[in-house]
Amino acid sequence: TMPNPDDPIYRRKLKILINPHSGRGTASRVWRRVEYMLAACELDVLRTQYRNHATEAVKQMQISDYDAIIVVSGDGLIHEVINALCSRDDGDQARMCPVSMIPGGSSNALAQILCDKSGEEVTAENCCFIAAKGNMHPLDISLMRTESGKLIYSFLSLAWAYIGDVDIESEVCRCCGPFRFDLYGFWRLLALRRFNATVTWEDEEGEHDETGQFIYFVVCNTPFIGTGLNFAPKASIEDGMNDILFVRGNAGRRGLLQVLLREDSGRHVDLPQLNYLKASKWTLTPENNRGIYSIDGEFYPTEKLTVEVLNNYATVLVL
Ligand code: ADP
Ligand code: MG
Repeated sequence: TMPNPDDPIYRRKLKILINPHSGRGTASRVWRRVEYMLAACELDVLRTQYRNHATEAVKQMQISDYDAIIVVSGDGLIHEVINALCSRDDGDQARMCPVSMIPGGSSNALAQILCDKSGEEVTAENCCFIAAKGNMHPLDISLMRTESGKLIYSFLSLAWAYIGDVDIESEVCRCCGPFRFDLYGFWRLLALRRFNATVTWEDEEGEHDETGQFIYFVVCNTPFIGTGLNFAPKASIEDGMNDILFVRGNAGRRGLLQVLLREDSGRHVDLPQLNYLKASKWTLTPENNRGIYSIDGEFYPTEKLTVEVLNNYATVLVL
């Protein structure tokens, strides 16, 4: 039977996906601590056993049986869930199923975004309250078409050049927790890589393009792209736009370091070497497919991308 929220003894039914591998194994510990807060809800708990387990589960589940899907993990598992929902045959209904997060990974941007929108501090307890009491809220999705024909639904970000390298290559330091990004980031700044590419984008004024050398290239769909990382202070999750940030090669290590030191606070956007623009459609063509793509923190092979922002496409929960 379909959930009927008007029923006075109605219990919200939640699909809970826990990734025991996330962070330093923190998700299981967090869940044991906060599970009691969801006692009034009917829970259907799945612990993911391998990469893409959540994808398979969400592709097969009877969506109408649930009020929401709650991920106890980081942004990587949210990426799996949103891609599974959007690529279902009944995608236009499935994408209306709200997705929310209880932070348990090494990067939990969605928890930060939803707590911010709810006017709450970012804690696992507040995220439980959002899961139990939150209302549906739309979220833009960046639809990325790769040259080889893949479709990727991105809810958060694309990082290429410096940040892409650090996001993905720092996986080897996973045991260090979130500190891995600082550790590896420092090393990657010393051994800085430069990449050639062409970027084109569309805004109200028409089409623009930029060809040259890049050391930093990040596209954000949301103001935060990681815990405490206010990369795109002008971004909104429902404006139908991506915020594109890049630094040209001529800014050098020093120019890049200035940007990196201010990213947490969002003050990097005032620096002259940081280019900041908004677009609803854009393409990135990296020369010789060099560099690493980190899409919502997940590794993807580098190739030409054509991107279109789908306004209010997915659904999340906020108070
Ligand atoms: P973190 O923020 O710590 O990276 P994520 O939620 O982003 O945590 O998860 C990281 C990756 O782990 C995701 O790409 C997900 O597909 C993968 N994953 C999920 N379950 C498992 C598992 N049981 N073993 C290994 N990897 C998994
Ligand atoms: Mg946006």
